Amino acid sequence: MTKFVYNFHEGDKDMKDLLGGKGANLAEMTKMGLPVPPGFTITTDACREYLNKGLVPPELETEVTQALRDVEDTLGRQLGDAEDPLLVSVRSGAKFSMPGMMETVLNIGLNDSSVNGLAKVSGDERFAWDSYRRLIQMFGKTVLDVDGDLFADALEDLKKERGVTADVDLTADDLKGLVETFKKIVQDATGEPFPQDPRKQMDMGIEAVFRSWNTERAHIYRRRERIPHDLGTAVNICTMVFGNMGETSGTGVCFTRDPSSGDSGVYGDYLMNAQGEDVVAGIRNTLPLSALKDTNRPVYDELRAIMRKLETHYKDLCDIEFTIERGKLWMLQTRVGKRTAGAAFRVASQLIDEKLITPDEALERVTGAQLTQLMFPQFDDSASRTLLTRAMAASPGAAVGQIAFDNAAAIRMAHEGTPCILVRRETNPEDLPGMVAAEGVLTARGGKTSHAAVVARGMGKTCVCGAEELDVDLKNRTLRVGDRVFGEGHVISIDGTTGEVFDGKVEVVDSPVTTYLSHGLEAGLKAAGDDEDMADLVRSVDRLLTHADEVRRLEVRTNADTPEDTERALGYGAQGIGLCRTEHMFLGERRALIERVILAEDDLAERAEAMEALVPLQKGDFLQMLELMDGKPMTVRLIDPPLHEFLPDLTELEVKVAVAEALHKDGPELAKDKRMLTAVRKMHEANPMLGLRGVRLGLYLPGLFALQIRALVEAAAELKAKGKDPRPEIMVPLVGSIRELQLVRDEALEIIKETEEKYGTELNIPIGCMVELPRAALTAEDLALEADFFSFGTNDLTQTTWGFSRDDVEGAFFGLYTEEGVFGVSPFETIDTHGVGRLVKLGVKKGRSAKPDMKMGICGEHGGDPDSVHFFHKVGLNYVSCSPFRVPVARLEAGRAAVMSED
Ligand code: PEP
Ligand code: MG
Repeated sequence: MTKFVYNFHEGDKDMKDLLGGKGANLAEMTKMGLPVPPGFTITTDACREYLNKGLVPPELETEVTQALRDVEDTLGRQLGDAEDPLLVSVRSGAKFSMPGMMETVLNIGLNDSSVNGLAKVSGDERFAWDSYRRLIQMFGKTVLDVDGDLFADALEDLKKERGVTADVDLTADDLKGLVETFKKIVQDATGEPFPQDPRKQMDMGIEAVFRSWNTERAHIYRRRERIPHDLGTAVNICTMVFGNMGETSGTGVCFTRDPSSGDSGVYGDYLMNAQGEDVVAGIRNTLPLSALKDTNRPVYDELRAIMRKLETHYKDLCDIEFTIERGKLWMLQTRVGKRTAGAAFRVASQLIDEKLITPDEALERVTGAQLTQLMFPQFDDSASRTLLTRAMAASPGAAVGQIAFDNAAAIRMAHEGTPCILVRRETNPEDLPGMVAAEGVLTARGGKTSHAAVVARGMGKTCVCGAEELDVDLKNRTLRVGDRVFGEGHVISIDGTTGEVFDGKVEVVDSPVTTYLSHGLEAGLKAAGDDEDMADLVRSVDRLLTHADEVRRLEVRTNADTPEDTERALGYGAQGIGLCRTEHMFLGERRALIERVILAEDDLAERAEAMEALVPLQKGDFLQMLELMDGKPMTVRLIDPPLHEFLPDLTELEVKVAVAEALHKDGPELAKDKRMLTAVRKMHEANPMLGLRGVRLGLYLPGLFALQIRALVEAAAELKAKGKDPRPEIMVPLVGSIRELQLVRDEALEIIKETEEKYGTELNIPIGCMVELPRAALTAEDLALEADFFSFGTNDLTQTTWGFSRDDVEGAFFGLYTEEGVFGVSPFETIDTHGVGRLVKLGVKKGRSAKPDMKMGICGEHGGDPDSVHFFHKVGLNYVSCSPFRVPVARLEAGRAAVMSED
């Protein structure tokens, strides 16, 4: 029988699939002997079963009783007991952290009689009634779906009536009255009284947490973070400890290193006399953890010791939630902490220095996506700027955009293509869509652990928070800073690295990490200047990337068609060109020659002349690039797209001819247009990219491939004569049958031979093909007989395997498809391993069955996508080829793939 409930002392940190992140780590801390309030975890299995069947599994209730009794026996108290009640929290906790996205209910177990028991044992009547009203409020809102404003308004009304401004100024009697009001709100809204049975409260709380997995905001968050929708959440039932039992109590969040910069040290915020979510909600401004040293030294020392113990145990930056109840420290949560991209690299490098992890393990701690973030531009120090305020640097980056005050405005601006900054007093989970749409987030309240900061960091979004000088007036939709007032749509710039907020647009420059990647360590350090943290970051990136280069098995090449791209990619460490698309070499002035080639029809001499005129031009292109790539391979793909792409637009031409005819404008111009129109009509294709293109075109228009091959081979021969080391490779696109390849190969070999004789040199030019049609993959053992190498064209392979046109579908229905879970992410972005990937795997296997040492790579867009790189490593490719900007990411991910794969 499936076990649905685990007591904290039964699990450990490796059981995240089942117990969720929070539950697994509570269990681990319990095992380590740390002060964790007793409790138990309901598994994700139970949640999945509930979500599938819409019913709480009956066995679950029995197991909950057993686990609850275990906790009660440990503590010698019973849930909701009238004399000395045990109270519990019911909290969600999925495998991957989803801060604030799901429900939590505190103080379960309080009712009309146990509230008196709590008052007696705590010796604090006010506290007991405050706890009870919090329960009704939280339970009403999250479990019973009562409008939260009803409770908030009632509280405000009471304060007004009593003439006080702070909650703490309300007396026990005031709160007693408020409890009655709250109970009435529940009764009126639901038609039922607030449940008095403690066990019923707990069961309803558990079910509410299960349900909260499917709220809209949870869906949005998961889509954005690529968390599968079918995981479900675990539920943690934990004995309540109180941070709001007066001034010797408190609650806080801390990190063993700075999650924002990666600096080592103690970071955190706390609030005295506060409960649960007050810190994270960012409603009251918090105190830095260092202040605790002065107010409660023994607790501070104990916490420091636990932080160190946890970091040593987890060998990573830990994020910790704690509560102090009347001077006694309790650990409520820990996990390996979310961090910014910069902190990830710096912390990984520090941990190698501290000999807590190996360089291989350090590679597992950073990602290509983080490296991409570090390549984003930053504000130019020398640009003019007007500082508005300086606040907490919560999540780094440079963001410029128009002020948007809420989700609707941010989403509208994003749709219009206008970058925006979401400006809020504080954020809560409801603001998630706006945060996703905005370039950055700015809040007036809350610390580094506030909702805005935590979520923005997780998303890699720039965030400045706790800017107290800002007055955000939602009603009038204005932002006031001192005596300046800005309306929605006004442009501001925020710097999440320094916490500065500027009026207007501030110019951006390359980040020192980008300078390092393109010009080397010395240049990167120079760009960092006096900024020691930045210099340390540049050194950390260099260290990890160098290690990735040492361990990776995949080579990283680039897709480059121009000398500029080639130079950039070489700077970024490309080891060759995996795809040089040659089509753009027929555009501009050369288009007229292509038109002549097509219009020549049966006039072979005319066609040959036009082609001949193209050879030196194309040779010039190849000379430049081969020279840059000296000593490195350069795969040149023969022309691929359909010829109509080089011809005038059909409709325009039809209109032009019709108008000329109507006006009786006879003459050579019209005659040429008419011939062109006939040719264009003949080549016009309704189904894009699947007709007369690739090798088909090369065979259909004799001489076209030959001209390219001659240009390339002669360029190589000339460079060789100059003592250079050109390494071109000829690649035939869109091959489906061995015969197609044979025909082109024979022609190419002929031209190579002639050129070798002409230049008196020996050229060793491999001839290979793209594998981008299912038939090519399925018959790869045949193709391998005629190919010296394969390059998987996963763009075309994806469209032909799925049977959808890559130019049309993404905008049309991919949104719906991701929404409906047909795929988690576009198969044009990340390789669809289950379908398209199978063809790649098969192609590799069949190809190598005929030629075991055959070189194979991939040059589709997937070559620079982190998840796809891991897949290509696994199936045994020799290289990935990607756009220049993604070369560093592919290098890092190839290294990660090598250390993370089992082989
Ligand atoms: C491919 O199909 O994956 C490929 C690299 O070629 P193109 O994108 O030019 O069709
Ligand atoms: Mg292709």
